[in-house]
Amino acid sequence: MPVSWAAVASCPKPPPTPKDRYEALISTYDAKPLRLVLLEVLGLLRSPLCSEDSPATPLVEHCVVVCVDTEAWTTNTDAMTEIGLVVAEYKDGKSLNGDVGEYAENVLKKMQYHHLRICENAHLRTNADWMRGPEGNRFGQSRFVTFAEARSILDEVLNQPIVSDSSNLAGLKRPIILIGHALAHDKDNVRKNGLNYDFKQHGSVVKEIDTQKMVKETLAWVDSRCANNDIGLDTLCEEVFGFAHDDPHTALNDAARTLICGVNLALRNWTKKNKTEKTIQEVARELEQYTQDTFESTWGTKFCCTRCGDRNHRNQNDCKTPVHCASCERFDEKTDDVGEAYKKENTYSHIEQYCIHAAEFNGWKRRVYDAHRKRNSLPAGPPPGSHPPSEWRGRWPMATPSDVLVPEPPPPFIRPILHTQGDVPATSAPVPGVRRVVFQSNARERAEKARARRNQVSRGADSNLGESDRAASKKMETEDVAWSGSAW
Ligand SMILES: [Zn+2]
Ligand SMILES: [Zn+2]
Repeated sequence: MPVSWAAVASCPKPPPTPKDRYEALISTYDAKPLRLVLLEVLGLLRSPLCSEDSPATPLVEHCVVVCVDTEAWTTNTDAMTEIGLVVAEYKDGKSLNGDVGEYAENVLKKMQYHHLRICENAHLRTNADWMRGPEGNRFGQSRFVTFAEARSILDEVLNQPIVSDSSNLAGLKRPIILIGHALAHDKDNVRKNGLNYDFKQHGSVVKEIDTQKMVKETLAWVDSRCANNDIGLDTLCEEVFGFAHDDPHTALNDAARTLICGVNLALRNWTKKNKTEKTIQEVARELEQYTQDTFESTWGTKFCCTRCGDRNHRNQNDCKTPVHCASCERFDEKTDDVGEAYKKENTYSHIEQYCIHAAEFNGWKRRVYDAHRKRNSLPAGPPPGSHPPSEWRGRWPMATPSDVLVPEPPPPFIRPILHTQGDVPATSAPVPGVRRVVFQSNARERAEKARARRNQVSRGADSNLGESDRAASKKMETEDVAWSGSAW
């Protein structure tokens, strides 16, 4: 019997799948201005952006805002040293009932501030005199974590199940709104060797908000030289809002100030200068102190000794553990008694993981690769005193850091100087009564065999390569020849 249209229309619609809900939220937020999305996910917007019957609506109150900034060693941008995370929740903003305070200080005080210092690179201190690197953190408390621990922490933040009595939301993840200043850099940094992380690996990120884009959207600042230029975080803090960006390029300082600016851009507060009881500078300073006094992260450890790697004591001065650095022992050049003493002091002052001389070499190696990639001229180096030292040839091209410390190649074979033609050894004068045997040289025969073997190998290997592989291999060969020796 045919089914009537009335019967079809009266059938209850199947409930939206998790995918439907996420897609509805993503498309709603894609279509709205960044400032409105940020206000909504922070629980500060009165009229919801999703329509009442949207499958996305039940997700909104579970949103988590994660502001991130990463920093690397000034000498090697591949060596991540810090992650700054500020985590905010929709429900915290909502609980304020609109009482956001001066420059959103009440919202900012509800957030959680995490400064994570990477144990593996804890010995890498900034060498720029205008910043303090990880030592300059002004928000919350710093904690030391390994790369593996940092990955678990990011999982914990970005992969949270929704806790709800509603069967509609069972099994869903809390939607994440990722915010940052020049966020693309941080996304690249976390993908690098070491952390090897992708913020989107859990499928929970529904929106990315870049404060550089918010500035363009709100016209809070336009570069008079070129309207398309992106604003720096220092200009945003100091010129647009008028508060100091002290100790910049410390991960949590940058992340916290990105959020201070983000929320106040969303609230259009840059126009309020001189019209409020408190200045934004006072709010920012108070927030620094407030987070230091009230917020302590339980992640990782408070200490990490950059002498022995132990995480129960503070630093070199407290450490009496016997340590040894194979890299210093091997590569420190001793030329006299002073050099010998220096070498001994270095060798027994840290474990190899924390060898600054090896780190210097790796920094130089990254610059070489970078120059190679960009076809720029080679950087000078390696820096004096780095391990391996400047005359070290290592393995080239170097694919992994472990290639730095490959065993030294055996000394080149030097053909002995022969006193007769060909490779027949010189003979002594004939001894009467002793039969002489003259060995016929087979050098030519051996050379021919070797040439035939080489031809066979290269034909076989080539036949397995595609056209592009062959081209790449040829290019690599040419590059290797071009680079051989000149880089060292
Ligand atoms: Zn120690
Ligand atoms: Zn060392």
